[in-house]
Amino acid sequence: MLGGGQLGKMMALAAHNWDLETWALDGSKSFPAGSAVSHFVEGNFKNFDDVYAFGKQVDVLTIEIEHVNTGALLKLEAEGLPVHPSPTALNTIKDKGLQKQFYKKHRLPTAPFTLFGSGEAIKKAIAAGELKYPFVQKSREAGYDGKGVALIQSESDLGLVIPAPSMVEDLVDIETEIAVIVARNGQGEIKAYPPVAMQFNPQANLVEFLICPAGLDKKIAQQAEEMAVAAIGAYGICGLLAVELFLTKNGELLINEVAPRPHNSGHHTIDSCYTSQYEQHLRGILGLPLGSTKMKTASVMVNLLGEPGHTGPVRYEGLEKCLKMEGIKVHLYGKETTKPFRKMGHVTVLDKEVEKAKTKAQKVKQLLKVKANRPL
Ligand code: ADP
Repeated sequence: MLGGGQLGKMMALAAHNWDLETWALDGSKSFPAGSAVSHFVEGNFKNFDDVYAFGKQVDVLTIEIEHVNTGALLKLEAEGLPVHPSPTALNTIKDKGLQKQFYKKHRLPTAPFTLFGSGEAIKKAIAAGELKYPFVQKSREAGYDGKGVALIQSESDLGLVIPAPSMVEDLVDIETEIAVIVARNGQGEIKAYPPVAMQFNPQANLVEFLICPAGLDKKIAQQAEEMAVAAIGAYGICGLLAVELFLTKNGELLINEVAPRPHNSGHHTIDSCYTSQYEQHLRGILGLPLGSTKMKTASVMVNLLGEPGHTGPVRYEGLEKCLKMEGIKVHLYGKETTKPFRKMGHVTVLDKEVEKAKTKAQKVKQLLKVKANRPL
């Protein structure tokens, strides 16, 4: 796999159950996957030569992050290496402009949008009356966890315009943000997990709670699954596709964006579903039958984010109190240092009743704090 973060670690742990030999490429063996893979190669997954040389050592290549060198992946694929997701699909997904054009072409519902070559072009379009407030600007490349997104509501926000080639879309009146993880294998078999509701930390724009079942109307839930199935079919990729959707206040479902790999919105599946998303990704990329996506129990996933004001070697406060609670599964990623809002781990709260799981999750959030030994 390209990337050695927490998603890579959890994928390697799933592979370990099947005694598969795993390799990861990333900057340092001290990263989360370093202790979980069979072989860790230190290098840069954005660099052509590093990716190409790494690919030459493995039988199947996958990713745990999108921002990799796809030129090397295309060459490896042309030379016969199975690469999942396909580099062509990855090139489309990596660019938010191409991604939106893809939905339009395949008639998959998404918010109306326009592409701009620069921040200046956006300002000119406003001045010429061609672009109206409010709108959301997203840089086409390398946006990650909300960092390449600007909400422009009026003239006073013009200073926030990102100076980069961008996709500009209508501001959606969102009722709930949901995600559906779907998998496909080389035989064309496709399976979707039940939708989850995502609740964000308003300060950091990161998922804080993930609720499953999402509490959606049955028809909406089914429609969301169908859209995810249609999206992975259109991309034709093997492995996972995490599909993030907006449910609007009008009851309409729109695809926001996708990630062709295991995803934060599927962490709960390790503890609460018959097949974890990580095992499912392996099944998909190895041409094996897909596993059941059924839920064993309701769950709420809590992301353990670094406390604001804390930077440095990490310590976890309140862990023992949490471990005394029933149905609490703690996953720590093994990052040596914390910083504000860094994803350091997650907790899955299991309960037959989702409302009880929500209450327990709030308690976990209050009890379990990710702090630095010596706060800066
Ligand atoms: P990233 O790739 O950085 O996660 P997203 O496209 O998911 O970026 O946007 C981050 C968040 O911004 C979304 O989860 C949502 O809360 C908000 N957002 C994004 N696009 C829109 C939109 N068109 N209308 C309203 N809110 C939006």
